[in-house]
Amino acid sequence: MKQRTIVWFRKDLRLHDNRAFIAAARRGEVVPVFIFAPEEEDVPVGAASKWWLHHSLQALSEQLASHGIPLLLRKGTSKEILTDLLAETNADAVYFNTRYEPAIRRRDSNLIDYLKAKEIDVQTYTSELLFEPGSITNKQGEIYKIFTPFWKQARTQYVAASQAIPPTLTSGVPDQVSVGKLQDLTLLPNYLWYKKLNAYWRPGEQHALEKWQDFLNTTIMYYDDERDYPAKDGVSGLSPYLAWGEISPRMMWHDISELLAYQDINQEQEAYGQVEAFLRQIVWRDFAYHQLVSFPQVINQPLKPEFKAFQWLEDEQALTRWQKGLTGYPVVDAGMRELWETGWMHNRIRMVTASFLIKHLLIHWKEGAAWFRDTLVDHDVANNIMGWQWVAGSGYDASPFFRIFNPVTQGDKFDAAGDYVRKWVPELASLPTKYLFAPWTAPKEVLAEAGIVLGETYPNKIVDHKAARERALATYHEMKEVK
Ligand code: FAD
Repeated sequence: MKQRTIVWFRKDLRLHDNRAFIAAARRGEVVPVFIFAPEEEDVPVGAASKWWLHHSLQALSEQLASHGIPLLLRKGTSKEILTDLLAETNADAVYFNTRYEPAIRRRDSNLIDYLKAKEIDVQTYTSELLFEPGSITNKQGEIYKIFTPFWKQARTQYVAASQAIPPTLTSGVPDQVSVGKLQDLTLLPNYLWYKKLNAYWRPGEQHALEKWQDFLNTTIMYYDDERDYPAKDGVSGLSPYLAWGEISPRMMWHDISELLAYQDINQEQEAYGQVEAFLRQIVWRDFAYHQLVSFPQVINQPLKPEFKAFQWLEDEQALTRWQKGLTGYPVVDAGMRELWETGWMHNRIRMVTASFLIKHLLIHWKEGAAWFRDTLVDHDVANNIMGWQWVAGSGYDASPFFRIFNPVTQGDKFDAAGDYVRKWVPELASLPTKYLFAPWTAPKEVLAEAGIVLGETYPNKIVDHKAARERALATYHEMKEVK
């Protein structure tokens, strides 16, 4: 009899270079299952993530079906579901790729012990990161807290080649086993906001791979020059695919290495730098996971303990204005509206909007992280938390708190022609660019000509930049004085 393995799909919703799936397929028959177990997650699964997951599971089901294999869909407790499935299918092994969030790690470790005690063959694989957390260390064997030395060290490491899917795949799912319905996972929110996302995204491995090829053929060649400008098409837009494991980071690493080895690029420093800048960026993702595994408290607590004394404000009204993109600062509002409309926001603008919430409004970064978690299609615990602690100044490798982004000059610098703000804040579209990032500086007649009445057609600014900056610095200095 052929050996039969349950492949437990998690945040690895692809077939290419999926270590657990490929190892199981090499072993014999496969029983693929996805278990939606929201109460086992470290943080709630956000609405945008659920929308993505729904469509991604649909795509994976179709792909497996094209090989004659059903994807089993289940909702509930992982342990119970796996136990039942082992009995129903007579499988003797469970394979899966490692996840790194603290509660998930504890759950998985308990499950491994439990399954092994039942004499089930359990195998786990590093498939979603380039390097297993803890494997990149300094000469003393210590974890890096700062990114640049981590990156330099990572750059010298061997990354195993991506693995090919075996030519024949065989289903191990007996006919009598129920496949389960995607609708029964109730992933789509019961309000219609998510429908907008259909216009911007096509989840699934196949689209991930197409987008990647497009990016490799075009944008990557000027990535370093353009990646900071939100109106430009200068970044990959691959984050949700990476977050759900629809594309293999190892495959990306090797494709980039090949590109870097081309003579034309290899000999031209400028082109080499553009491409390598992208590689560096995907290594940030690994860095975030190394931090999460080494310092799991990062999810809820500042990594620099002095920040525990920081005096945050509770201001529901200000939080709502920030979430809705009604702060009266056009760059901030453009970002928050882009997020609400598309489930994604450009990295430069993530930094500006996060800084505004934390420093101009003195609202706790956890509130911002929770909003991002719910609305980002690419939400990823490690990246999101690292991003927020970076902006707050409380992470290990963070921007100092006293470096406070000026939301007006950020517009001048990174959206010089005003295209980004005009797109997302259309009520300001007719304002000349020199006033666009600070509409309150425009003369009355200019505002009138552009059809703008501040406080009516567009909000008055929620705080004054200079005063807010001083208040933030004073709060920071008070915190520093607490012993
Ligand atoms: P590209 O520029 O094309 O980069 C390619 C990939 O590299 C990204 O998809 C991502 O996986 C990785 N990457 C790039 N920049 C970073 C970074 N600064 N940190 C970690 N990984 C990076 N990223 C998420 O994937 N999920 C999040 O929930 C998330 N939350 C964030 C919150 C804040 C406050 C900030 C400042 C940043 C956050 N980021 C998050 C990081 C970054 O903004 C996004 O990864 C990036 O904007 C995604 O767009 P892209 O795929 O086009 O990026």
